[in-house]
Amino acid sequence: MVIVSVRPQARERDRCPHCRRRCPGYDWGEGRRRWRALDLGTTFCYLEAWAPRVSCREHGVVVAAVPWARHDSGFTRAFEDQVAWLAVHTNKTAVAELMRIAWRTVGSIILRV
Ligand SMILES: [Zn+2]
Repeated sequence: MVIVSVRPQARERDRCPHCRRRCPGYDWGEGRRRWRALDLGTTFCYLEAWAPRVSCREHGVVVAAVPWARHDSGFTRAFEDQVAWLAVHTNKTAVAELMRIAWRTVGSIILRV
């Protein structure tokens, strides 16, 4: 397993995940978080970063947006896009096996994408 430590560029930081507006920081949230990224060959790969919360005028206290993943997802955008593409071209069981995720997870990823 490979864990890559990342952080958003300055202009991508402190943004509300719903309206993308820049917001004042609130707190450090639940600390560091991991997102499943596309495998490196057969090796599982994860991105790890701080997941601070921001206080949005319109949406309240929310976990700040990150450029590599959708809101409320434990997977990177690229991972989810690949799952969605595969789901269109093959069946859910094949997608789950190839991507090494639970069958039900395929469904929730498709809903987000
Ligand atoms: Zn907002």
